[in-house]
Amino acid sequence: MRASAYPLIDADEAAALVLQHSSVLGVERIELARSVGRVLAEDLIAESPLPAFPSSAVDGYAVRAADAGKTLRVVGESAAGRPFDSSLPAGTAARILTGGVVPDGADCIVMVEDVHVSGDTVTVPASLRAGGNFHRIGDDLREGDRILSAGAQLGAAELGIAAATGRAELPVRRRPRVALMSTGDELVEVGRTPGRGQIPDSNRWALLAALREAGADVDVLGIAPDEAEPLRRVVVDALKEADALVTSGGVSVGTHDLVKPLLESLGTVHVGRVKLKPGKPFTFATLADHRVAFGLPGFPVSSLVTFEVFVRPALRKMQGFAQLHRPTLAVRLAYDAKPTADRTEYQRVVLRREGRELVAETTGSQSSSRLMSLAGAHALVRIPAGDQGFKAGTVVEALILSLP
Ligand code: AMP
Ligand code: MG
Repeated sequence: MRASAYPLIDADEAAALVLQHSSVLGVERIELARSVGRVLAEDLIAESPLPAFPSSAVDGYAVRAADAGKTLRVVGESAAGRPFDSSLPAGTAARILTGGVVPDGADCIVMVEDVHVSGDTVTVPASLRAGGNFHRIGDDLREGDRILSAGAQLGAAELGIAAATGRAELPVRRRPRVALMSTGDELVEVGRTPGRGQIPDSNRWALLAALREAGADVDVLGIAPDEAEPLRRVVVDALKEADALVTSGGVSVGTHDLVKPLLESLGTVHVGRVKLKPGKPFTFATLADHRVAFGLPGFPVSSLVTFEVFVRPALRKMQGFAQLHRPTLAVRLAYDAKPTADRTEYQRVVLRREGRELVAETTGSQSSSRLMSLAGAHALVRIPAGDQGFKAGTVVEALILSLP
């Protein structure tokens, strides 16, 4: 064992360094079908009003409000997509269906429930309001209105409004291409029977899921041995295509930990150790051409917690997300949260609702090897370094992963 040469950096400072060195990726125009979940790269501005024509909100009769109380001759019909193409004379009505164009001359739609029909006439109520029961041009959007802002993620409603305003393609940020690699001579492919001292490469699957959820396009490199040259070859090759490299394992101070020296030889290591629990050996480097590399610790919980704290926000910045971080909420602790003297700790909790409050219960042993502390966890409670901690009953901020 040798002592680490890297200074222990404050967790917030390390997170700020990572974000500062992660650059926003370029823009591509893609068709709607492929843009679900992507991030809009430019504000979307309405080029014309929506709706584009006055359109009936109900099934009924298009009339003039001035003809209230009269019996009117029905002169035609305006159905959705099949307009009544002449102007409506005074003293007449046109049958209209939801979505039908309101004929010129009409200023009011009377609901079918409110009229009396006899032959080809219709008697309308004694009081009618001009403007009733139809959508006017530009009610939803006026020309020049901002429809969506750059940085918005495209979900169902966003794609719907883009389509409603006639966009078949949208400008979105490129997704980060991430090369993912596990390191360690003890690792075997999942599904193969581990020999003595061997374990399945579980981080690959955990990180693959986390990366995809964060919007990355992942290239799985597999397992690299704890040997400098093979490791270097895999990494150098992968970096030809990738915007970011994510490794797990090989960043602590044991003699087989080769990731830091490798990143040191390929670029600049900005973070080599962090005052964070779990995740002290987290490593971050910048490489040529705005590429970044994240050396995550091997312990499964450490790798996922450092992913949450450092990698996910960076990937979201690269994609142009307006919102980089998980939401936080105030939760009441149901347990005594003991602090770590010199490191910020992210403790895993499950949440339950009690009245209007969220109550946080620990997931049990917080060992960094114990994935069971993270499986099913709803949130990470941030416990500041020091000797204070938080007593049960205290209200603290929690980083929300999901809500019960
Ligand atoms: P390291 O950071 O390489 O010192 O690894 C720390 C611990 O995490 C060791 O017990 C490793 O066996 C374990 N570990 C490393 N990589 C993985 C992986 N890909 N999947 C599961 N456990 C791992
Ligand atoms: Mg290792």
